[in-house]
This record gives sequence, C-alpha cells and structure tokens, in this order.
Amino acid sequence: MKVQLLASSTQDPADRQFVSTYLINDAVAVDAGSLGFHGTPREQAAVRHVFLTHSHSDHTASLPIFIENVWTPTPDCPRIYGNPETLDSVQRHIFNDVMWPDFIALSRSMPPFLELCPLRDEVPVKVAGLWVTPVRVNHLVPTNAYVISDGRSSVILAGDSGPTKRVWEVAYDTPDLRAVFLEACFPNSVSGLAQAALHLTPELFCREVSKMPAGVKVIAVHIKVRYRDQVIRELLDLRLPDLEIGECGKEYEF
Ligand SMILES: [Zn+2]
Ligand SMILES: [Zn+2]
Repeated sequence: MKVQLLASSTQDPADRQFVSTYLINDAVAVDAGSLGFHGTPREQAAVRHVFLTHSHSDHTASLPIFIENVWTPTPDCPRIYGNPETLDSVQRHIFNDVMWPDFIALSRSMPPFLELCPLRDEVPVKVAGLWVTPVRVNHLVPTNAYVISDGRSSVILAGDSGPTKRVWEVAYDTPDLRAVFLEACFPNSVSGLAQAALHLTPELFCREVSKMPAGVKVIAVHIKVRYRDQVIRELLDLRLPDLEIGECGKEYEF
C-alpha cells in the first residue's frame, strides 16, 4: 500500500504541513485540505473516494475546488465519505449556495458532482481494493480515525484527537498493522491550548504511543508550522524507537 501525505505549501513543502490530505494508492484520499491543489487535473480525477475525518477547514478547505476540478458530464462522480455529522456540516457550511454552489442539490438535476456516503462507526467499507474502517476519536467536533487495509498490511490515520482509547484497542485487533500516522500539533509549552483544542503535545503523544501495540511505526504529522522545530525537538527527546517525523510528498510503502 502506498501512502502519501500531500504537500500544502509552495515553499519547502516537505517540512510545512499547513493542511491535511493523505492519498492512498493514488485513488483514495483521506481529507481534502490540499486535494484540490494537488498534481494535475488527471491525477485529481483518479481519486474517486474521499474519506473526511471531520469538518475542520484544514481537512476540508479544498474539497469544493477538487469537486469542481474533477466534474465531468457523466453519471460517474467522486464519493465523499464521513460520519453523518461531518457530511451534514459539508452540506450546511460548504455546499450551501453561499460559500460555494450547492453541488449536492445540483447533482439531483444534472450529471452529479458528488455523492455523500455516511459511514457507520467501525463498519468497514471496501473501495479501490482497500478496506476502510472508521473509528471515533476525541476532538472538538465528531471525528473519525481510519484503519486502512489492503489485505496484506494496515495503517491507521489517527485523525485530529486529544487523548483517546478505542482506536488503540482496534490497533491491537489489527495484526498486520504497520504504521500509525499520529498528530503532534503543539509543543509542551502550549499544553493548555492543546487540551482546550483536543490536540496532542509531544508529552501527550508519548502517552498515546504507550497505548499502541509495540513495534508499529509511528509517524508524527499535523505539526503546527510555527512550532515545528520545537515540536520536533521535543518528539526526538522522547527517544521512541519507532518514531518518524512525517514528510509531505514522500511516498510511504507498507
Ligand atoms: Zn480538527
Ligand atoms: Zn486539523
């Protein structure tokens, strides 16, 4: 399975993650922070399935642009998956005829722009040769982590979350789990903000890692750009054996 954390900065893109999008096997996206700004129109059109973790703008910002870029006058359209609350927010706050045309309503009267597909917690769906299982985590709005498996290996994209539990129980039930992409938003010095916003600091990151099965690679992502050097220093000080700092644009193979 190929996993790429998409770039979102025009300068030093490997080191600056402003927003979140993962691309799996070039065909399935998780989140759409920068999906609509990625690659060529043809590369975007290859993405037929988009799983949203939650409604926050750094995860949905380019969704309307992506939908516009890939529309064709055929019955075929991208499918957008998420928990029911996230899909409701997408309808009410993005495709609301104010922020962007209501492509959801338009899809009923002309070749469709998108199809919304609500997910049930912990019920896997199969798309493009991958099993994708949503697991709720602990964030300001209803948020999913996703367990993604191709039948040989699995990864967990842990979403935005403060301290959480259920996804790590699922991790123990996933014997071929190779990697967890885990957020490390803020440095330890702003732990008050991290707790209020339900994000992790390196100290909290370490506690989450201790809840996971041993030997699984942990890739730190979603590091706030203005705190990046400090967060990385604090993460490396933890001396976690399986830690890697996430790099945008890199192709991870599992
Ligand atoms: Zn968020
Ligand atoms: Zn976020």
